Formats: sequence, C-alpha cells, structure tokens
Amino acid sequence: MKLANRVNRVTPSMTLAISAKAKAMKTEGLDVCSFSAGEPDFDTPDHIKAAAKQALDEGKTRYGPAAGEPALRQAIAEKLQAENGLCYGADNVIVTNGGKHSLYGLMMALIEPGDEVIIPAPYWVSYPEMVQLADGTPVIVPTTKETGYKITPEQLRQAITPKTKLFVLNSPSNPTGMIYSPEEIRALAEVVVEADIWVVSDEIYEKILYDGSTHLSIGAVSPEAYDRTLVSNGFAKAYSMTGWRVGYLAGPIPVIKALTTIQSHATSNVCTFAQYGAIAALRGPQDCVETMRLAFAERRQVIIDRIKAIPGLTCGEPQGAFYLYVDISQLGMPSLDFCNRLLDEKYVATVPGISFGTEGTARISYATGMETILKGMDRLEAFVKAYS
Ligand code: GLU
Repeated sequence: MKLANRVNRVTPSMTLAISAKAKAMKTEGLDVCSFSAGEPDFDTPDHIKAAAKQALDEGKTRYGPAAGEPALRQAIAEKLQAENGLCYGADNVIVTNGGKHSLYGLMMALIEPGDEVIIPAPYWVSYPEMVQLADGTPVIVPTTKETGYKITPEQLRQAITPKTKLFVLNSPSNPTGMIYSPEEIRALAEVVVEADIWVVSDEIYEKILYDGSTHLSIGAVSPEAYDRTLVSNGFAKAYSMTGWRVGYLAGPIPVIKALTTIQSHATSNVCTFAQYGAIAALRGPQDCVETMRLAFAERRQVIIDRIKAIPGLTCGEPQGAFYLYVDISQLGMPSLDFCNRLLDEKYVATVPGISFGTEGTARISYATGMETILKGMDRLEAFVKAYS
C-alpha cells in the first residue's frame, strides 16, 4: 500500500507516545513516575462538570454550528477583550477541538506549498509537523540557554524571506517554561509588522505564571500587530480540561471563516455539551485557576531545587507553564537514550529534548503530584549518579 507522501514527512507526537507508554507501564502494575505529558493532574473543577452535565440533561447533544456555540464564542471574545486587550467579537472566534486543532486548522487555512513558517527551537513537538502536513516549510531558528531559549528580534529578522508567511510564538513556552517579557513581545511585534507577516500566538499557558510575571499578547501591542495576529488558546491547561478537547482560535474574520469551512468538513462542531462546560469555565469563579497555579508554583520550586542539587544537571528558573527544561549535556548521552534508559531502568518518564528540536536536554513536566515529584527526583538523582 502506498500512503500519501505527507505521512512520511512527519513522526508521531513524542509527548503523547511517551505518556501513553508510561500509562501502559502503570497499568501493568509498575510504579512509574511520569513527568511526560503536560497534563494537569487535577480533576476538572466541579462547577464546570456540573454545567456540562446540565447541558446533557437539557438535550444539548445535537450538532451545533461548525464554528462553535454562539454563547461560547461570545464568552471567549469577552475574555480576550477583558484579559488580553484584544478587540474581538464572537465572529472573530472559532471553537476548535482543543488548542492543538486550532493550530492545525490554521496551517490548513493559511499555508501553501513553498510557504515558510518560522518556528523558534526548542518548540512544541507538533508545530513543525503541522506545517509539514500543510505542505509548508518549517524554518527552525535555534535559540540558546543564554537568551533564555527565546528568539531575538534580530534572529527573527534574519530568518524572514520573501516566502515567509507565518511566525509561531509561544509564551509561556512549552517545553522551556520561559516567557517573553512585554518589551521582548513589543520588539518582536515590530519585526512582524515591518515584514508584514502573520504571527500565531499560542497562549495556552498564559494563566500559569510565577514570581509576578505578566503575559502580553502580541496582538495587543499595536493596531498593526493586531491585524497580523492570530491567537490560539484553550481550556485544557488553565482549567484542567485536557480530555474535553475545547480550544479556540481568534483573529481576523476572513481567517476564522476559512477555518470554519475547513472544520465544517473535517470535524463539524466541537462536542456540544463540552462547550457548555467551557462557558462555565469562563463565566464562573476563577479561584480554581489560582489554586492550581499555586500548587504548580510549589512543585516548581521543589523540582528546581532538586535538579540544581544533582551534579551533572543544570536548569534555569522558568517563569511560566509547568515544564522544566533540563540541560543533560554533561552526561554525554543523546537525549533519547537518556529518556529511554531513565524510563526502562528507573520507571521515570521524561521527554527527550530532540523531540523539541534541541539535543542535550530533557523536559520534565511538573503537572504531577508532590509525592511523584519527590520519588521521581530521588530516582533521577540515582540514575544520573550511576552514569556520571
Ligand atoms: N501539550 C502537552 C505536552 O506537550 C500535551 C501533549 C501534546 O499534545 O503534545 O505535553
């Protein structure tokens, strides 16, 4: 059987593959400490679940508009205005099957063969693959520890060619947890406007910030930046709704309409009653978000202190998300070997840096309980000692 060429250009998602392996090992009865997928370990808050249950009872079980329930699109538009300073109405929003699918839909709507998409590395595993699936060309711009794994305006400027269509910005970042300061966002916006390219801002971790850091959406920088910005976000991380698959893309109406056309053929609407849970997430009390953030903050400190105390490993102090990007280069082991051996020998699951486009690193997600963190760090320490 000859499969389509595009399938040969991409590999399966490593984050999903490793977390599935860790879950399968747990099911076999093995005592696995999983730091793999970025999946909050909290249950979805009760008022959100109650709203979805109520929607089910009220018969919200039928097809809905492909772009999403009007009430959810409206709630998202109001959130973007109030929290992010982005002047959108409901028509500027499409509800998608998770944040991931908003980005996939965008690539389908925007990217043509030959179009270049600038992606700073380390990047979330799915960005380049989505570009490839859309027959575009990912242009990977390596960043370094010294710049906090952030692309500089000069690097962005240099990467732009007449074929550049889109720049992918992700702050707070998966996998590094670094955030771009408002000044850095403004400087990148200037380059985007100057070059007249699109920017998609993946803001899925915007609410998970530490030490008083702030998040600025690039679309809020200036009217010119706003015109060129698409915002991707979702409910999975802030409201612990990973399995609900509700996300969204916001931006200029022609782009949203194009995505809606594609979605109307690809998936139709996102699960109707799940969308009612998402409305409750936005309209309901927000203290659940803060409670989870505080738990992440506590875990973050513990994990940073433990990693820094292990000779052979180093890490920065990321200001957002729930990831730590650990430098394992002193061990002289390819990141894939490191992660495989750590999982096979110590039952500790992490994600190799190579899947995020950098070697000599591994990603640790601390969206997991403190008990797992303490046990996992003991095992990691013993592992590193044995190989040093
Ligand atoms: N985004 C999360 C992660 O990076 C969940 C898995 C995925 O979709 O990649 O771990």
